[in-house]
Amino acid sequence: MSGAATRVALREALAETTQRLGRAGVASPSVDARALIAEAAGTERPLVLLDDLPAGFAAQLEQLTARRERREPLQLILGRAPFRRLMLRVREGVFIPRPETELAVDLMQAHASGPLENLVDLCTGGGALAASALDEIPTARVLAVEIDPRAAELAAENLEAAGPGRGRVLRADLTGDPGSPELAELAATAPVDAILSNPPYIPPEAVPRDAEVLEHDPHHALFGGGEDGLEVPRAVIDWAARLLRPGGVLIMEHADVQGPAAQDAATRAGGFDTVRTAGDLTGRDRFLVARRAAGDPTPGSERLTR
Ligand code: GLN
Repeated sequence: MSGAATRVALREALAETTQRLGRAGVASPSVDARALIAEAAGTERPLVLLDDLPAGFAAQLEQLTARRERREPLQLILGRAPFRRLMLRVREGVFIPRPETELAVDLMQAHASGPLENLVDLCTGGGALAASALDEIPTARVLAVEIDPRAAELAAENLEAAGPGRGRVLRADLTGDPGSPELAELAATAPVDAILSNPPYIPPEAVPRDAEVLEHDPHHALFGGGEDGLEVPRAVIDWAARLLRPGGVLIMEHADVQGPAAQDAATRAGGFDTVRTAGDLTGRDRFLVARRAAGDPTPGSERLTR
């Protein structure tokens, strides 16, 4: 195929794929069409620079487009998702990382004082926050906790790729008895410099609208439990109160309506001297920032038996 013929074929593919995805209700049809075309063409270069298309391009694009028309998330079709500086592996059955969560790492770096060496990621899912911390803080070790076996396996892969030998994944239920043997490894990480968390927090009645979310993200990674969706987030806050060193920070994502409730949970847990809410890039309340009181003694085992 000549360069000119390639450009015509690409232009037609772009128009047709965008139209099909738009009709299927995909929110960003032309962005997704470009991504699928690049995947089918086996390139990461801008499409205008292509002089040729591989054999089987049309058949491959048809397959990818049909999947996206069925509202399979783009990231699952590609098998990867960008998150901060990383390209993470993603897999069916595991929560797909969201761009808004990226901010948690900046908040940790902005609010932390002292070293960031011993970190914990609670409800790590596929390991996005833990992997980014390993990638961007070369001195850090991270223990990532996850209840779901498939997510834990994927997290282990993403952590190993981002910071070989510096990340560990613990499979455990944070809402369980804090003194239980399965949580002993987490308890033993204290004193911790910072805790990152994007737990499930959606309240039971706030059912997500997008087919991509509803049909592909596991529901235990979305709904936080309890009447207000904050059962798991409360367990995260309680663990932060037990594990953080004086001056250590917890950065936890939540829904935009949950700022006051998350602050209240942190105040009740006790031991924090700063409890505030941070916004996302659109100004909505999305993160709890809680700093363990500097004068408070290093957390000890008595807090674990509470
Ligand atoms: N942010 C998720 C969503 O958009 C909700 C759950 C989570 O991130 N922990 O659906």
